[in-house]
Amino acid sequence: MKGMLLMLLGLVLAMPALADTIPPTRVVKVNERIHALLGPMELPSRKNQGYMVNSTLILGDKGAILVDTGFTDEIGAHLARVVAGITDKPVTTLINTHHHGDHSFGNAAFPGALVISSEMCRKLLLEGEADWLAIIEGAVGRKFPNTRAVPASQVYPGNSRTEITLDGVRMVFWVPEAAHTLGDMMIWLPDDQVLLAGDILVNGITPNFRDAKVKVWIDTLAQVQQLPAKTIIPGHGPLMSKADAAGMHDRMAKLYQGIEAGYRDGLTDSEIRQRLDLSEWQPLHHFNEQMGGNINRAYLEVEADNF
Ligand SMILES: [Zn+2]
Repeated sequence: MKGMLLMLLGLVLAMPALADTIPPTRVVKVNERIHALLGPMELPSRKNQGYMVNSTLILGDKGAILVDTGFTDEIGAHLARVVAGITDKPVTTLINTHHHGDHSFGNAAFPGALVISSEMCRKLLLEGEADWLAIIEGAVGRKFPNTRAVPASQVYPGNSRTEITLDGVRMVFWVPEAAHTLGDMMIWLPDDQVLLAGDILVNGITPNFRDAKVKVWIDTLAQVQQLPAKTIIPGHGPLMSKADAAGMHDRMAKLYQGIEAGYRDGLTDSEIRQRLDLSEWQPLHHFNEQMGGNINRAYLEVEADNF
């Protein structure tokens, strides 16, 4: 009897751990060598174990290239298992679209892989390691002793576009002056007509302005329209078309213009928020959590530009 009770107790104690596993990845085959590995769209929590990001698998001649690696070493290992289900090729190269932990901390799960990013991403990843670790450990509610910043050893400077052939795959590393962060890098695959946008493009969620230069971001989104992209893999959310990307550009440009107009009329950021038409933004994920901060961030940028 006592043994039975202990066993039941053991089961009950084991249940939360069983419930809190990394949610499955939705794999979308874009073409023979590109797979989008789409993660959940919710903010990091105990329930999703911090898994909230899109990654991309590119099959090279000899190895696999993984773009964005998740928030923890555990998510990196999860992505490694997903990759192993698609190809026998080992992951030889990692590319980070920016320094935010949800895109870069999983690098720790791929020892020995070549890591590529923008120069500024490398710097910000090292500087922000403790802050981003605190964010994910706070959100999931436990420590991740094996998660750490593994910065790039091959980097590209700000405001550059560099074409290379990596393991047989032609790619252009496009580092805008700034956008979602000061160190974003998009990857344009000209032979596939696929753009890996990082968080410069997100689909169905509110973009995060926290570390952004919003005006330059909007300019960058206008430049995206010049690419003959058939498929865009955003940092979060389902695959996008160029028309979807134009929609995000227009929404952000309208918001910025509204904030500029409010500033010129002498309004505070909370007064501006009252006046803005946010109906296009309201259906997006994380609207309530992020929109106030976004308006404040854009307002401060307008103020600095007019000083
Ligand atoms: Zn992100």
